[in-house]
Amino acid sequence: MQPPPVRSHDPKTNAAKSLLIIRMAFLALLTALGQAPAVKADPAAARLLIPERIFDGEKFLADRAVLIGSQGRISAVGPAERLTSAHPDVPVRRLNGVTLLPGLIEGHSHVLLHPYDETPWNDQVLKESRAERVVRAVTHLKASLAAGFTTLRDLGTEGAGYADVGLRTALEKGVIAGPRLIVVGPAMVVTGSYGPKGFAPNFRPPLGAEEADETRVITVARDQIGHGIDWVKVYADYRWGPNGATRPTFSRAELQAIVATARDAGLPVAAHASSIEGMRRATLAGVRSIEHGDAGTREIFALMAEHGVFFCPTLAAGEAIARYRGWHKGRDPAPERVRRQHSAFAAARGAGVKICAGSDAGVFRHGDNTHELELMVEYGMSPTEALHAATAVNAEMLNMADRIGRIAPGMAADLVAVRGNPGRDIGDLREVVAVWRDGVCVAASCP
Ligand SMILES: [Zn+2]
Repeated sequence: MQPPPVRSHDPKTNAAKSLLIIRMAFLALLTALGQAPAVKADPAAARLLIPERIFDGEKFLADRAVLIGSQGRISAVGPAERLTSAHPDVPVRRLNGVTLLPGLIEGHSHVLLHPYDETPWNDQVLKESRAERVVRAVTHLKASLAAGFTTLRDLGTEGAGYADVGLRTALEKGVIAGPRLIVVGPAMVVTGSYGPKGFAPNFRPPLGAEEADETRVITVARDQIGHGIDWVKVYADYRWGPNGATRPTFSRAELQAIVATARDAGLPVAAHASSIEGMRRATLAGVRSIEHGDAGTREIFALMAEHGVFFCPTLAAGEAIARYRGWHKGRDPAPERVRRQHSAFAAARGAGVKICAGSDAGVFRHGDNTHELELMVEYGMSPTEALHAATAVNAEMLNMADRIGRIAPGMAADLVAVRGNPGRDIGDLREVVAVWRDGVCVAASCP
């Protein structure tokens, strides 16, 4: 067992203590002079929010007030009049014309990437310093939060090692503002499959993920788990066949070994898979979610449903890449990948597989994550179904349904207020009025 760190004689800690004392004295002086800096609303103070309507994670309800308790949790939900008279001392915030929803959950992002039409993926991995990538990620986290996303499952640093683990720690310590972050570190790929590619054979560039094969998959999975990841991410297939065709990568035995290793440590596995064979192997190996699934058929989605595997279609990324290649939506016919996305999405809905809302933000602009929900509606879901996916379903996928994804007593007060009614027009999700994380108003204007 690793011994606990010794702190008492650490000169750095003592210096930090001295700085804290000086800072406190300075703040006391400012307060005495009447110049105390603005402080956020006291998270310990209870508030009663009365919006026009709420979406509770499943359905829309009118005449519902939400009481944010003193511990950053929702302590009551009920008719406005009943809650106001039951809590006469609690400050009331009326949100006229506003819908209150659970904080949105992004099922698939890459905060260490930015849009490929700004900088190609290869150049981000090979030419951007780790410092630049982390600084960009901090702005991406802020943009995601401002868009109403209070939780992100971030599915791979793409060459930035464990920078996501460090970002998660900085968020937990309150050093930076952002959504709660669920991370996978470098992710796992089979040797020879992943990029950057196209270099002279004597030159081995750093890769966008960590290679592992055969029995080494167990060592690499354990090493990644030891570095503090929350999920294991694998690429069950990739574009490495003839003419760049998508072909399976890990064998079923390798995938099973990874899933078993992760399961022993209490971690779920997410699998990138676009081909039927990749999806089949990942499903039978016991992964928790499959990302992309472009070639998915009704049969493979039925198999996923039978095994309780979630499907994250990442429609927004597929359309973004088509746009970068010159597709003008509305003017040009849909390219093949977008057509395949449409049929896979319809097949998945028909097969009854649980559909996650995961956009693959990073391929396109962070803060534009709600575009995935707009496309889910365009591809056939009702706005209510798309919102259910981005809240309660994603929370279930993350095994966090007891904490986030619903407006109900006992849940974390992660909330987003938007002007209008996204149940009628999903586009209203972009009209963010305020965002709360753990009961503290953190983005947009705090009512
Ligand atoms: Zn991705």
